[in-house]
Amino acid sequence: MPTYDEDDLLPISALQHLVFCERQCALIHIEHLWAENRFTVLGSEMHRRTHDGPDEQRAGVRICRGLPLRSLRLGLTGIADVVEFPVQTTADLPDPLDWLEEEWAADNEPALADADSATPTAPFPVEYKRGKPKLDQSDEVQLCAQALCLEEMLNTAVPAGALYYGKPRRRHPVEFTPDLRQETERLAARLHELIRSGRTPPAEYAAGKCRACSLVDLCLPQSTGGRSAKRYLDRMIRAACQEPQSA
Ligand code: SF4
Repeated sequence: MPTYDEDDLLPISALQHLVFCERQCALIHIEHLWAENRFTVLGSEMHRRTHDGPDEQRAGVRICRGLPLRSLRLGLTGIADVVEFPVQTTADLPDPLDWLEEEWAADNEPALADADSATPTAPFPVEYKRGKPKLDQSDEVQLCAQALCLEEMLNTAVPAGALYYGKPRRRHPVEFTPDLRQETERLAARLHELIRSGRTPPAEYAAGKCRACSLVDLCLPQSTGGRSAKRYLDRMIRAACQEPQSA
């Protein structure tokens, strides 16, 4: 039974921001702030190349690149880098693009085959990551959310997938265990709760994390006193405009 309407859907990528830092998630998805750093630029480029990769054919495997996803149950939407389908079962599955406008689907014709894939026995999402495996579970949660979307869209089990990291250049298998599914569902609910609240949580400065955060100059974790970054900046600008000009 669907829980959310189309208009309520939130991006799967927001789950990653949520796991990394709730304030970062709120800055991006409530205050609509964004800043690139070296890591985000390289990551975007990797995803673009993955989505735009050439069509290929491999025995027993059909590869869809840049596959649109959604779950009305979890209120999530996104795009899978790659989903591998066992060829013998694709005819039995509903078209994952049924819910999209026809012209949208036409622009996203499935590409075929991937050089580093093994023959799957069920739909198998693969998410490409620029760097190395993270210490937190954000990548696994993102991939599991994709699997839950696929299960809802295709009405079939998606028991496993893989994360492909640039360092080292290899796949890490991910099993969608009951615990990982439960955590992903909990985070999806928390994401909706946070966005509905419209409130940006206070900053909790953590040197290692904040130094790696592309939003550190907008968040100002050591200066804003835990307030909304946008309101803080507005206040600073107003104060600067009201200061008497020196002769
Ligand atoms: S700078 Fe730190 S507190 Fe601020 S959003 Fe980034 S990780 Fe979160």
